[in-house]
Amino acid sequence: MIFSLILFILIFLIAVNYFQLITFVSLVIGPKIKTSIVVDKWILKTIKNKTGLVIKNITIFHDQRPYAMMGGIYPFPMLIISEKMYKVFNHDEMEWVILHETGHHLLWHNLEAIIIEGVMLILGIKLINLFQLNILLSGVLSLFMGILSVQIIRYIIEYQADKYSIKRVTNPQGVITAQAKLKKYYKTGLYKLFLNWNISPDLRIKMAKQRYSG
Ligand SMILES: [Zn+2]
Repeated sequence: MIFSLILFILIFLIAVNYFQLITFVSLVIGPKIKTSIVVDKWILKTIKNKTGLVIKNITIFHDQRPYAMMGGIYPFPMLIISEKMYKVFNHDEMEWVILHETGHHLLWHNLEAIIIEGVMLILGIKLINLFQLNILLSGVLSLFMGILSVQIIRYIIEYQADKYSIKRVTNPQGVITAQAKLKKYYKTGLYKLFLNWNISPDLRIKMAKQRYSG
């Protein structure tokens, strides 16, 4: 029983937070990701003008995959942008990214994600206890609950952040060209289909096009 519970908690947390775990683990072991701090006046000014949020600096992860994240919980933002994204995204594309990340911060998304994961974790533990599930069934349940959690996060948190940013970008075309750039670096696969938090590039493009039609 205790092994079923430990296995469930481990697989669940790894499955739901896969991308973040891989990124943060590679900060400390293996081919290390170096970090540095930049004060990019354009980014900081754009965030302040469009959302009112004051951010002091940006943490660059010297990583060759393009991504950005918002660490910290309100009112302590920590904006992280990978070196790849910082280099290849133009201002129109970057504006979508930084407003999306600011949306996460202002809408308390990190806390929301912790609550969603916590509720699903407790629900899974209750189910294992109730049905006295063995290790095999607990493993299957952890994957099922993990995928379900990611889908809830995708449509509550990530969809809201894209709505927040696409509504505010100066040039919606940047949202569209950014999706093409991202597509080049991330191949479709099982992970992307089931465990990736982000909404589909097609849905983002659709939202950007709606900006043109008012
Ligand atoms: Zn996001």
